[in-house]
Amino acid sequence: MKINILGGGPAGLYAAYLLKRSRPDATVNVYEQNNAHSTFGFGVVFSDQALEFLRANDEGTLDAITEGLETWRDIEVRIHNERIVIDGVGFTGIARLRLLDVLRQQAVSVGAILNHERIIQDVAELDDADLVIGADGVNSLVRKTFEDQFGTSIEHFENRFAWFGATRPFSRLTQTFKQVPEGFFNAHHYRYTPDMSTFLVEVDADTFERIGFANMDEEQSRQYCEKVFAEDLEGASLVANKSLWRRFPQISNAKWSVGKYVLIGDALRTAHFSIGSGTRLAMEDVQALAKALEDHPQDIPSALASFESARRPIVEKIVGAANRSAKWYDDFAQHMQLPAWEFAKSYISRSGRIDPDRLRANSPQFSSQYEAWRASTTPS
Ligand SMILES: Cc1cc2nc3c(=O)[nH]c(=O)nc-3n(C[C@H](O)[C@H](O)[C@H](O)COP(=O)(O)OP(=O)(O)OC[C@H]3O[C@@H](n4cnc5c(N)ncnc54)[C@H](O)[C@@H]3O)c2cc1C
Repeated sequence: MKINILGGGPAGLYAAYLLKRSRPDATVNVYEQNNAHSTFGFGVVFSDQALEFLRANDEGTLDAITEGLETWRDIEVRIHNERIVIDGVGFTGIARLRLLDVLRQQAVSVGAILNHERIIQDVAELDDADLVIGADGVNSLVRKTFEDQFGTSIEHFENRFAWFGATRPFSRLTQTFKQVPEGFFNAHHYRYTPDMSTFLVEVDADTFERIGFANMDEEQSRQYCEKVFAEDLEGASLVANKSLWRRFPQISNAKWSVGKYVLIGDALRTAHFSIGSGTRLAMEDVQALAKALEDHPQDIPSALASFESARRPIVEKIVGAANRSAKWYDDFAQHMQLPAWEFAKSYISRSGRIDPDRLRANSPQFSSQYEAWRASTTPS
């Protein structure tokens, strides 16, 4: 059996590893346009339980990833000159390059073939395989080639974001919201190594327009954001790496496979970065696909149908939460009219997954401080 995988991001590399591991006789090729030492972005986060799905049948990958993780138990919300800690919301962070390194080593260890610096211009170049996996991210060539058959839908959220790094560690995942004369800014910042952090800046559409970010180059934008967040950076610098302003795409597909072509990861669907699930979803797709192929070893169409029917309901639930979270961010300038504690409560409840009881159970310290604040502001 021959399997061609387009894309050497988390989805493609993990697919190469799991599929070659379960079928040692198969030839598994990954085609990736970048070299092995470059990628976009900086660090990514996972919620603290997010990688547990690996424990059941892939403890080796879990252990290798865990070695490079930064972990913390609380979130901090900075707004109106207050710093509010929401306890019990564990997250872990890792450099994207390190994650890719681990997955690359895993893939090579079982005999998958990684072809770096190879841009695929036409899916016909991949056609000499029994199965072709489109793990080629948001701008997927595989998806675009069969767009009508996949029934692709792409919409964009309103906010603009740019993904920077910062040359200092933050003690925990921090959400900073700032109003400046030109408009409204938000930064998601968290460390992913002992001395570096991701620093992702978001602005609403009006602020983007008013400031004229569209007419600035990467360096001008970097300097502008560095000034806005100078107090939080405490003397550290922002670092750019293809840090262009973008709108987050909401991608979905009515069908997940067309003949022997199947989509996984961001090529298949996106989940807004504010819930830190895109990478995990991509890797879970791979596990589900590998299982479906094991259940239907001689019948790829049945395997692909089974992959979609088992995985779709789970994906839709998480994507629903991610979309609600993204929508909350689109409206963050309005939410900022709330007092700090009310804002923090709105923030932590934004995806609809945390009701008051769950909040009390997960974040007892925050809940009691919030209740005390409410009591102090409610007229008796
Ligand atoms: C700003 C931002 C912040 C994020 N933060 C987080 C986070 O904190 N936690 C989290 O879990 N997720 C996060 N994500 C999402 C995460 O990055 C993606 O969900 C994840 O990378 C998906 O993996 P993938 O392998 O499907 O796609 P990608 O990582 O995009 O990989 C696709 C690969 O395909 C290659 N490729 C594409 N086309 C071709 C071609 N024609 N020829 C050769 N190679 C090709 C690309 O070079 C790329 O390496 C974030 C995303 C963004 C935009």
